[in-house]
Amino acid sequence: MPNATVKVPTPLRPLAGGVSELSLEGTTVGGVIRDLAESNPGLKRHLFTADGKLRNFVTVYLNDEDIRFLEREATPLKDGDVVSIVPAVAGGSPTAPRAHLRSASRSGGTTPAPEAFSKDDLRRYSRHLLLPEVGVAGQRKLRQAKVLLIGAGGLGAPAALYLAAAGVGEIGLVDFDSVDLSNLQRQVLYSTTDVGRPKLVAAKERIESLNPGTRVVTHEQRLSAENAMETLAPYDVVLDGTDNFPTRYLVNDAAVLLHKPSVYGSIYRFEGQVSVFDAERGPCYRCLYPEPPPPDLVPSCAEAGVLGVLPGVVGVLQATETVKLILGQGEPLIGRLLLYDALALKFRELKIRKNPRCVLCSPHATQKELIDYPAFCGVPSVEEAAARERLPRVEPEALRAELDSDEPPFLVDVREPGEWSIAHLPGAHLIPKGELPERVDELTRAAKVVVYCRSGIRSAEATQFLLDLGFSNVRTLHGGINAWAQRVDPSLPQY
Ligand SMILES: [Zn+2]
Repeated sequence: MPNATVKVPTPLRPLAGGVSELSLEGTTVGGVIRDLAESNPGLKRHLFTADGKLRNFVTVYLNDEDIRFLEREATPLKDGDVVSIVPAVAGGSPTAPRAHLRSASRSGGTTPAPEAFSKDDLRRYSRHLLLPEVGVAGQRKLRQAKVLLIGAGGLGAPAALYLAAAGVGEIGLVDFDSVDLSNLQRQVLYSTTDVGRPKLVAAKERIESLNPGTRVVTHEQRLSAENAMETLAPYDVVLDGTDNFPTRYLVNDAAVLLHKPSVYGSIYRFEGQVSVFDAERGPCYRCLYPEPPPPDLVPSCAEAGVLGVLPGVVGVLQATETVKLILGQGEPLIGRLLLYDALALKFRELKIRKNPRCVLCSPHATQKELIDYPAFCGVPSVEEAAARERLPRVEPEALRAELDSDEPPFLVDVREPGEWSIAHLPGAHLIPKGELPERVDELTRAAKVVVYCRSGIRSAEATQFLLDLGFSNVRTLHGGINAWAQRVDPSLPQY
């Protein structure tokens, strides 16, 4: 007879002897479910009506198919099939509250006296205290925990709010930015009235008003190889909410060298990634990506755009993993990379293995300290930045005069079409930087060319590219269209 695994959902486990899954023999889906119900009378009442029909708020899946679209209870089983019972659940009300409370008090033998928490604390955290996996002991672990958030932006914002709400005792924040109007589309820590204020000042106020029991320690600095070890050292868990590769490798390396877990999240347009890197128990970020991609292949959120709710999902997943690490509960996302595609609404999971030759976390590690991260990631050095400064360029006011003259320059916009539709200069030609090599013919008859982008970085690269091709009269618009909007045409939006 075929042998199938039956998965019991959390709310029904107290009615099934506390098990989450069991292995049953049977020829049909209905057969194994009925066998399970016969041996657990509480479950039977829940799953079947008095006249023996499967209740219609209980959905049963065979592997990933609803049996209602197969042969219902008569759907045949093969060896190794997975039968899942998926009951309708509504948020916070547990299906079997007494059973939950019973199991909570069962673990009470080792639970410290609840008097350690004030009456208000007990009320604030009551939904946690009801969970056997948290309880008073877990809530105390949360209160004693110190979590460092690298970046108080899209990922750090939701993570900070949920960690504070959960009762994490100390939250460290590393950031050096001020709140910009364009942050508010996703960085839910900040309000419109915070625009222009230092992020850490606004964040500390917001977090402490949410939970006065959470201490917020601010590190107003750019994380660097010089300060990273000292900054990370006092914390139990690091939550990596950075948006650039030099800082990402720096956070990973410092966490590995300090033997601390780092909860990783990253976002790009509509897609997110989450993992937990803990070299003591699994791979590190370098095991997954030994080398960073070249900088011109990785547009930032500012260039590529990001769906505002995406960092909410990813940041909350990071907060979830952080809470689990603190509680020591569940299966952490160690050795697994979770991929989230918001457009398709799909989660996928890939296995990450520890690289036996990882330079950082393997037994043969050669890297014993922090390195020069901007150089490792190919970020322009001081010399390259200076070379960019020496490129022929034009200031916005001068370009305005030239455009009004009898011989206006050929104006090339090297941004992406979405940026073009936010704002563009009159008479400009849109040729995204990536298409420039194939479309360079469009420029050959121009006597003089001016290239612009958002802030002047991409246009500098494009200018260098055209100069290398032999174009003689090419200049970049210094400061990009944002400088133009500031100094020449305030009616244009800045972004
Ligand atoms: Zn590694």
